[in-house]
Order: sequence, then C-alpha cells, then structure tokens
Amino acid sequence: MTGTFPIAKFENIQTPFYYYDTQLLRKTLDIVKSETEKYNYKAHYAVKANANADILKIIASYGIGADCVSGNEVQAAIEAGFSPENIVFAGVGKTDREINLALNHNIFCFNAESIPELEVINELAEKKNTKARIALRINPNVDAHTHHYITTGLNENKFGINREDIDGIISLLPTLKNIELIGLHFHIGSQITDFSSFQDLCVRLNDLQNTLDNKGIKVKHINIGGGLGINYEHPNHFPIADFETYFRLFNQNLSLREGQQLHCEPGRSIIAQCGSLVTRVTYIKEGASKKFAIVDAGMTDLIRPALYQAYHRIENISSQLPEDVYDVVGPICESADVFQKDVRINKTKRGDFLVLRSAGAYGEIMAFQYNLRELPKAYLSESL
Ligand SMILES: *Cc1c(COP(=O)(O)O)cnc(C)c1O
Repeated sequence: MTGTFPIAKFENIQTPFYYYDTQLLRKTLDIVKSETEKYNYKAHYAVKANANADILKIIASYGIGADCVSGNEVQAAIEAGFSPENIVFAGVGKTDREINLALNHNIFCFNAESIPELEVINELAEKKNTKARIALRINPNVDAHTHHYITTGLNENKFGINREDIDGIISLLPTLKNIELIGLHFHIGSQITDFSSFQDLCVRLNDLQNTLDNKGIKVKHINIGGGLGINYEHPNHFPIADFETYFRLFNQNLSLREGQQLHCEPGRSIIAQCGSLVTRVTYIKEGASKKFAIVDAGMTDLIRPALYQAYHRIENISSQLPEDVYDVVGPICESADVFQKDVRINKTKRGDFLVLRSAGAYGEIMAFQYNLRELPKAYLSESL
C-alpha cells in the first residue's frame, strides 16, 4: 500500500521538494482540538518541528498556541497569526535581544531553565517596567527511551533545572520583583512511543507538586512539553498519532490542583505524517553486490537518517512493477548521505518519483546548503 499523491501535478515541479497533505494536517488539528477541549487542556504547537509560513498559518487558524525556542520563532509565530498571549518561549540560551523581543510582545510565558537566565529576564523586565511570567523548566530525570540525541529529561542533559536546585530558586524568587512564577515546565524527549515514560513523568510531577504544596508554592499551569511519537513504519495505517490515549493517560495519572491547567507542546505528532519529501531517481547504479538508487534529494534536504539513524518509509509512486532491493542514496559527498539500505520498493528506473514519508517534522526546517545545494521548496496539497 502506498499513500496517494497527485503524480500528474508533480511532473512540472523541480525535485526534490516537500509536499504537505493539508487535509491530513487539518484532520490532525481537529483531533488535537477536540481531545484537549475534552479536559480543558491547552496545546502549544512546537514551531521548531516545522516553521513553513503556510503551515504555521493553518495551525494558528485552529486557535492553538505556539511553543518557540528562538526570537525568530516568536516573530514567525506572531506573523503567522498566533496570539502572543498563547506563546511560550523555551531554550537554554535565550539572548537579551530575544528576551526583549518576547517582552515587547508580552508573550504568555518564558520557560526558564537556569538561575542566571531568571536574573537576566528579571533585569530586562525591570528596565521595561513590566513583569515577566515564567515557568520553571524542571528536569524530571525520566528516561524517554528514545534516541540519545533526542532525550532531554535526564540529569546529564543540558536542559532544565535539576530537582536539587529547586529549593534555592524558590528562595530566590521573592527577590526577583519583575518575575511572576505561573507554571512548571517539563520536556523529556521526542519520538516517545513507550507510554510508560509519560506515566513515569506523571509520578515525578505528582511527587514534585506535593513537595511544592508543603512550601506553599502554587502554579496555574503544568506544561508537559512535547514528545508524543508517530508511526514511521506504517504512515498509511496510522496517519494520526494516538492523542486520545496520550491525553487520557495524563487525565488519569496526573493530579492537577484546583484551577490548574495542563499545557502541552506537540510538534512532531502534529506535522510529521502530513509531509513527504518527493525526489526523482537520477541513476540506478549496479554495484558488485547491490543496486543503488541515486536520488536527487540528499541529507541536506532531510538530515534525520544521517543524524539520528532515523527511518523514513520510502515508496516508488511511479512504478507498479514487482519489488526489488536498493540502497537509496543521495548525491552529497558524504558517506552518511544514505536514506536507507536494502529497501524493498517497486522496480525502479531513472526518472521515477520516490517519496520519503513522515518527513513533515524536522525535515524542511533542518535543510541546509552544503555542496551549495538549493534549499528544497514546499507545496501544499490544497494549493497545488
Ligand atoms: C522539541 C520540543 C518540543 C516538541 O517536541 P516533539 O517531539 O516534536 O513533540 C516541545 N517542547 C520543547 C521544549 C521542545 O524542545
């Protein structure tokens, strides 16, 4: 089974390019909306997964918030129509320029990751005679059971405030007059498919909240970050992430306090399955023991296989012939420029279209220009 693609329309487009199925994106957003409304939760789309301006506009039109990790993302989110009062800003190294930009827009909340950062936010807010709302990003030391490059919630990671340091911060807060603590923030990693990691997170959060209760600290929201995984093996059978189970798990396992709201920051789970990287086969090269399908897309267009050994399902949408086995590789002068080895796809010839599925998240946004390549363009199904 392959996905459905408008091949006739692809004929006149220069490859490689990203193709976004916006019907699927809209269906996904409808589900995120209804599942969060069920429990009065609030979602902030993680802009870093895909900041394509047209995609951002569609997501913003559903009234959900934005989770940003740079000043430029804050700017892009506002330009796309996200309301500043729904924008959160995370990151271990926010610069003064970025903090000032966010203060000027009076965003909902800074997710702060260290004492020096809190002091700088306080100082810059004081200069503007304003008060910054902040959430403390706590490192819950939960193993996300995912690739080590996308595990973020262990004590050894650079992200967040370790539990042992919380007491110090809490005694410091009353001296930081231009900061208001409104939330607690967590993010344990990405592409999490083992739901027991989220259960572990709930246990840590309940425990932490009990400790904070005893110190008389109350926050208005608990932000559980992102990380919900998608099914890279079977994008046709599981096109939408399991938001229902995910939110039910938090509803059943996390004890929110009176009036407290749960916030989350889904990135990949919203946009990954909607995107495909479309490429043409330039050559079939027969080696001594294998066949290479050399395509015109490379690691510069989609770096996930080279960076995280990530799997993307590959389909030949031009061929109906019986399957054969190929190493699908790009043209870049790097041995890591391999999309997948020993992949079974319909018998392939020069000029065929191959699609790399589930490439909507951390795909286009991570493209770069090594070998002086052009950045890939992107097309939406609804405007092709
Ligand atoms: C990357 C990131 C997210 C989004 O993660 P996904 O796995 O794409 O859902 C959310 N919050 C923070 C703080 C992040 O760094």
